[in-house]
Amino acid sequence: MSAPTPPTVLLIGGMDSSGGAGILRDTTAIHQAGCRARVAVTAVTAQTDHGLIASQLMTPETVATQIGAALACGPVDAVKIGMLGNARIVAAVAEELPDLPIILDPVLATSSGGALLDYAGLSALIAFLPRVLLITPNLPELAVIAAHLGPEAGTTDASVRKLLSQGAQHVLVKGGHAEGVDATDLLFTGDVAPLALHAPRMKKSLRGTGCYLASAIAARLAHGAPVETACAEAKAALHRLFTES
Ligand code: PLP
Repeated sequence: MSAPTPPTVLLIGGMDSSGGAGILRDTTAIHQAGCRARVAVTAVTAQTDHGLIASQLMTPETVATQIGAALACGPVDAVKIGMLGNARIVAAVAEELPDLPIILDPVLATSSGGALLDYAGLSALIAFLPRVLLITPNLPELAVIAAHLGPEAGTTDASVRKLLSQGAQHVLVKGGHAEGVDATDLLFTGDVAPLALHAPRMKKSLRGTGCYLASAIAARLAHGAPVETACAEAKAALHRLFTES
């Protein structure tokens, strides 16, 4: 008897030559969770742990062809999207993807400040939100997206409401950039009070944590877990990875 086929996650995002973030980090999370990864590369970037040296975006056609080929290989259970680069790539992804659970990590820049999405790309990303099951901004990303949607929201809660009103079903706000002993993430769904997910704050300044978390969530959704369980388990897995490595 052959082994059962593992659930499959399609990863759409950028290559980071340092291996700290992007698709390489994503695949670690996918494989650790017992899933299979297929990929569509949006950009090849040259990075060190300290900065972005260069970024070469793929053409929208190349991205679309990769997505088509990945889907032609067999069923896909969830999609994780990271770096998209520009509006034309966002449009190609939107056009090519069928209706699947989509986790969007709204990657705007590297930790060192190098831009990974242009201004028009941000508008296109917001237009894509009705297709998104879960978006996972950190606090700076949430502020930028909310500001793009009109006058300053003021609070995290008000900013999240703007994203939900654009059509995203769930918003997971990552607390890594906040202060405090714990790094608390908040999962917002509809009008109910957010679910708080706690983990001790990690001391090291780490790269690729957002990539890993979103991919770990996608893997658990691909296994059939509900969003709340997927987020809680993925956060625990992220903490284990970075405290053990
Ligand atoms: N480079 C690529 C290709 C990414 O996808 C990401 C994040 O998703 C980053 C860099 C940013 O990672 P970091 O915040 O660790 O610099």
